[in-house]
Amino acid sequence: MKISAKTIILEPLAVTIRYLFKKPVTVQYPEEKLEISERFRGFLSYNYEVCTACLSCERNCPNQCIKIKSRKENKKRIVEEFLYFAGRCMFCGICHDVCPTKPKSIHLTKNYELADTSRESLVFDLKKFYYRGD
Ligand code: SF4
Ligand code: SF4
Repeated sequence: MKISAKTIILEPLAVTIRYLFKKPVTVQYPEEKLEISERFRGFLSYNYEVCTACLSCERNCPNQCIKIKSRKENKKRIVEEFLYFAGRCMFCGICHDVCPTKPKSIHLTKNYELADTSRESLVFDLKKFYYRGD
């Protein structure tokens, strides 16, 4: 089959010229960032003060990303440790949906910048949550 000059030169050239005058869809990340959609689900935020240690989030997380240790004190459960394995999280939002407190103790933020160099650095305890300001 013979391929014409129109197919190999003119048609691709026409596509290139057409795109020269269109606004680029890419941005210069990380200097430039796209606006995040309202319903975007990113890194968890956890509010220790509201949490009742009911373990609903831990039990319902499909990837076992949450581990909670608690103790009983004056008929209340107090959270001693809250671990979040962010490297395993698929940001489904189930932990937020099943959290019974009002306001919810768990939220999914718009933060998507989680890249790090080791699995260990993606494990968040109460102290790390605090220092991140999440
Ligand atoms: S967002 Fe989904 S995967 Fe991530 S901790 Fe919550 S329930 Fe687990
Ligand atoms: S579901 Fe909510 S209240 Fe229950 S342990 Fe998880 S964060 Fe705390």
